[in-house]
Amino acid sequence: MLGAIEAGGTKFVCSVGTEAGEMIERIQILTEFPEKTIPQVIDFFRKYQIDALGIGSFGPLDLNDQSDTYGYITSTPKPGWVNFPFIETMRKAVNVPIAFDTDVNAAVWGEFLFGAGKGLGSCLYMTVGTGIGAGAVVDGKVLHGLSHPEMGHILLRRHPQDEFEGICPYHLDCLEGLAAGPAIAKRWGKEGARLSESHPAWEMEAHYLAQALLQYVFILSPQKMIVGGGVMKQPHILPRIHREMERLSKGFLTLPPLENYVVPPGLGDDSGIVGALMLAKKLLVEKNVKNNM
Ligand code: ADP
Ligand code: ZN
Repeated sequence: MLGAIEAGGTKFVCSVGTEAGEMIERIQILTEFPEKTIPQVIDFFRKYQIDALGIGSFGPLDLNDQSDTYGYITSTPKPGWVNFPFIETMRKAVNVPIAFDTDVNAAVWGEFLFGAGKGLGSCLYMTVGTGIGAGAVVDGKVLHGLSHPEMGHILLRRHPQDEFEGICPYHLDCLEGLAAGPAIAKRWGKEGARLSESHPAWEMEAHYLAQALLQYVFILSPQKMIVGGGVMKQPHILPRIHREMERLSKGFLTLPPLENYVVPPGLGDDSGIVGALMLAKKLLVEKNVKNNM
């Protein structure tokens, strides 16, 4: 039995499931201060005897196992969670091996194994929600380097009609600062869900997301790009992104038909939690291989 946590800015999803990715139980807990949220998380896992735990968390995270703050959430704008020792806290509670990665790295792993990226060698998952982030699988492995990618904070060309200064606490007008859900709400004075389909917000949004996706193509050349998150619940946004990518790419690259290349998650809202479960499985498999060597 495996445990999984998808730690998001608004909610935590906790689940237990099998190595085949089948979920046995799952719950949702509101993301409040750690002192309030974490005890509920721990209570959930107390009911089960799990063999490993996979965590996909909002970040940035310290993933360097040589670092003193390994397994911490580091410089998040989320109040109360700066320098939260996630691995250490969970290890004290469950005492099993813990796989720890970003929410989008977990999601891309889930999509790669069971979703829209199934059968491919590479894919990318981007979320457009409270924040923007992306993770990639390259040659069958979740991409890491210095740490994890931060593809939501890239800098873009401004839409000519956009005077909004942006809301990223670090960069103001990076991709996340211009195009995440809260940026839409602040720029237009209304939540995205309440803006009509003909509102100019959507062409601007597509302009930014298309630029970002094109840059991901140029840099990583993934075989598929999967786009999820709350903002993508607008049914007309994905076709707008396809058109804008077409327009901006100027025929430079021969891309597959975009409706098959930039797609919604195959696992719906479950990419992250399924991926976190599968990160736990991967860790167990790696540990077994090591022990048998
Ligand atoms: P989180 O990023 O916290 O995991 P979501 O992916 O659900 O959560 O993203 C929440 C963001 O998505 C909010 O900013 C919200 O305004 C926006 N959002 C949710 N539903 C819609 C919708 N139907 N249309 C546009 N924006 C939406
Ligand atoms: Zn930023």
